[in-house]
Amino acid sequence: MARQEENLISRNRTHNAETSWEVRKRTVWKNLWHQKVKAKLKHFMWKCLQNCLPTNEVIFKRIGHGEGRCSCCGEGMETIEHLLFFCVNAKDVWKLAPVRWDGLVDKQHNLWLWWEEATKSTSKDCGPERVSLTINLFWQIWKARNRIVFDNEFQNPPNIVSKAQVEWLEYEQARVEEIEQSATDNIREHQTRRQTARDDDVCLFTDAAISARMIRTGQGIVARKWNGMIMKAKAIVNQYKGEPMKEEALAIRNAMLMAEQVGWTKIKIHSDSKSVLDQIHRGNEYDVNIATILEDVQDLTTHFERYSFVFIPRTENEISHALAKFAVQLVDDIEWEQDFPVWLMDLVRKQMRVVALFCN
Ligand SMILES: [Zn+2]
Repeated sequence: MARQEENLISRNRTHNAETSWEVRKRTVWKNLWHQKVKAKLKHFMWKCLQNCLPTNEVIFKRIGHGEGRCSCCGEGMETIEHLLFFCVNAKDVWKLAPVRWDGLVDKQHNLWLWWEEATKSTSKDCGPERVSLTINLFWQIWKARNRIVFDNEFQNPPNIVSKAQVEWLEYEQARVEEIEQSATDNIREHQTRRQTARDDDVCLFTDAAISARMIRTGQGIVARKWNGMIMKAKAIVNQYKGEPMKEEALAIRNAMLMAEQVGWTKIKIHSDSKSVLDQIHRGNEYDVNIATILEDVQDLTTHFERYSFVFIPRTENEISHALAKFAVQLVDDIEWEQDFPVWLMDLVRKQMRVVALFCN
């Protein structure tokens, strides 16, 4: 019987208490079953919640073997909560991880209560991704612990985080295939409607995001065909305190570098930063903080057969905006040429449906 269950039932041994516990248990299980992670990870998470993984504490209590000390730090009792939250190793992982659960710190002493609270966020924006990535992080922390126990090999925290991120992305990508197919269908329908608008420009959408709290900046760059189809996307993260104008200028410059690298010769660069675009259009009197970047942008224009800089309002720049906000949470830059993340494709589909409506 799970520790949490024991606690709850021993507090009040009435039929009602047991029933409401059963209801909570069913809700948690149902929610877990709907998480977008491999079945293996669902079972792992359920075992964590039921406190039946063979942690040293569980082994010690069950068969009196060992002292129950943590295999990683040797300092605390190896409970599931210690392993996942309080161990020095886990703390380092959470410092580097692209997800934050700062609001739930007071629930860390009881994984069950923590989890119930965490999964409530599922209904909000980005909730499902946050939770599924978190399960992957728990899994990698547990696997790293096992490597110490069985192979005497220490996994460093950046490695643990990047493994969790990679596995999470791989799973997301597998789901994307199906969505991409329906996006392609949508594009075909869309194409027949606006054949005349066709040209060979690559449209680059750029945006920047800044997190003062995390001391990080993110840039989102999305390359799309004339028909809206995504060709490439890039999320760039920098670990410093950024300034909006400078980051917007850098995003434009990096979009051009990306285009040059791929070999696109006709580009249309979109940004929602009016002041940066005004300076580019003027071609002089640059703001001193971004002068070097904009000079570089002017230099880069000579590498293209055709180029233009276009201002778009934030509302039309939703996708690179979302990507920039995503980038802020990353440890390393990520670039996609296919198998785009599911949330990105969802935004594309949403936007294309709106465009399709206007074209009727
Ligand atoms: Zn420890």
